Amino acid sequence: MKKNYLQDLFSLEGKVALVTGGGRGIGQVICRELARCGADIAIFSRSGAGETVKLIESEGGKALDIIADATDESSVRKGMEKIMEVYGRLDIVVNNAGVCYHKDAFEATVEEWRECLDINLTGEYIVCREAARVMIENNFKGSMVNIASMSGHIVNVPQCQAAYNASKAGVIHMTKSLAIEWIDKNIRVNSVSPGYVATPMSVDPDFVEPELMAAWQPMFPMHRMAKPEELCGAIIWLCSESAGYTTGADILIDGAYTVL
Ligand code: NAP
Repeated sequence: MKKNYLQDLFSLEGKVALVTGGGRGIGQVICRELARCGADIAIFSRSGAGETVKLIESEGGKALDIIADATDESSVRKGMEKIMEVYGRLDIVVNNAGVCYHKDAFEATVEEWRECLDINLTGEYIVCREAARVMIENNFKGSMVNIASMSGHIVNVPQCQAAYNASKAGVIHMTKSLAIEWIDKNIRVNSVSPGYVATPMSVDPDFVEPELMAAWQPMFPMHRMAKPEELCGAIIWLCSESAGYTTGADILIDGAYTVL
């Protein structure tokens, strides 16, 4: 029996992976795990990802910190140019940058609605499109993983977050649409829909009021939130050659939250 069978199956050796929003939270863990599987990492964020770069380099990996706003076409194009200049290829994209507001429909301004849709949906669209342009022009085989949410499938309670829910439902269907559009271009496009994950977005009292946390707790079938690491097996698989026949899929990782 070949000893390294599993390693070979999920290896990302020789591949370059772009992760948006990789400076903290889920994105930082995704960067670290993809690097551990052999990928060289590029990170897009607005405020920098120095801590993630240090973390990856301390484990012997390669990472590139690029200031790029996912909602800005020219900023994303410049980011792609930087990746090509430094690494000379692009194989994987994990579209992870996102924001969430807890405001009801009358409380939220139209500007806040637009900002949420702009970052979570349009931003992922721009990054997918500009990455696909690079992949197609250079004949690279590509895999894209768009981070959606269980909120794209259900309406979370008790908080109101119509813009977030709509944006994530949009990500799931955009993913399926692009998967079909690029099916003959050797680019696979899938999404991952996490349930609540323990990151600042979901546990930091600056973002989430303690009363809300207390209201959520009895709703977790597994009595806890996910750890960011628990999303990474599926993401690594989708990025690897072992998922060669998987495109247009959405994988729910929600500890059965949406089952009940
Ligand atoms: P987070 O800690 O708030 O991190 C979000 C990241 O996105 C930050 O690094 C931020 O960096 C970056 N970002 C935001 N806007 C950007 C833009 N326009 N261009 C480039 N980067 C941008 O969030 P998280 O909890 O790790 O969530 C990551 C993803 O998982 C999001 O898509 C979220 O919707 C999804 N998700 C989270 C949960 C959860 O419970 N945490 C559950 C389901 C799905 P800068 O501010 O420096 O740009």
